[in-house]
Amino acid sequence: MLESDLCITIWVKGGKSIYEVLNAGKDKAYHLKRLGDAVHLEFMSEGGKVAPMKIDIDLRMAARLNKNDGDARAYVLGNGRKTGHEYLYAYDSLTAKVLATHTDGKYNAVSTPDYLEHGLIDKERKIVVHHNHPNNAPPSISDVMSVSSYSGIDAAFIHGHDGSFYKIQPLQRGNIEKATKAMSKAAKIASRTSEFASLSDLEYAWLIGVSRVSALSKAGFIKLTSNVVMSENIKKMTELMTVAAIQSIK
Ligand SMILES: [Zn+2]
Repeated sequence: MLESDLCITIWVKGGKSIYEVLNAGKDKAYHLKRLGDAVHLEFMSEGGKVAPMKIDIDLRMAARLNKNDGDARAYVLGNGRKTGHEYLYAYDSLTAKVLATHTDGKYNAVSTPDYLEHGLIDKERKIVVHHNHPNNAPPSISDVMSVSSYSGIDAAFIHGHDGSFYKIQPLQRGNIEKATKAMSKAAKIASRTSEFASLSDLEYAWLIGVSRVSALSKAGFIKLTSNVVMSENIKKMTELMTVAAIQSIK
């Protein structure tokens, strides 16, 4: 298992992560020329042609955001493991300012404070929200829906107390709800087949939760980063749900 605090998010001007930029052109080879206030990257296409691309990266901001993610994880997991309750930590990824640290003292829910909600509905904002799941459950339907409906959310992190984590970033905000409904329908039909019949309700709910975000990612509706190992059952369910998600917008 990878530790989530080993993941570094580097922000490129224009709000894209360097990971997105690197994958956007399908170019496998690139050279890191210089590290400093700006990084120069050259991309080499598979045909052997070099397509240079200059990206300026604010490394100090990247370091601050990375520290925020570490602080957020320590806050929600540290407090969560002590009390068994859910905690929320939110920050603004454009300024690195911490916006909220909050708990309702409940083991299976944490609300969004009103003062944070104002920012979350503002599409000009890029807010990152972390929360913990004391029972290690994968992202819930409402976790996925909040990423879809809050236009000011840039990313949501869900941390299980067992060290599992999921990072969800919306890519096609307008289609996530439709796809999720279609996937739930497909999962319901699949639950009646012999393949999944031996699973308990809890196991099935867990399978659906992981497969939901995995399929949304495969279908291109969200970007998912996670350290959770995909079992054969998850792979099968992800396949079914991916087809349903893609068909939902045709
Ligand atoms: Zn949650």
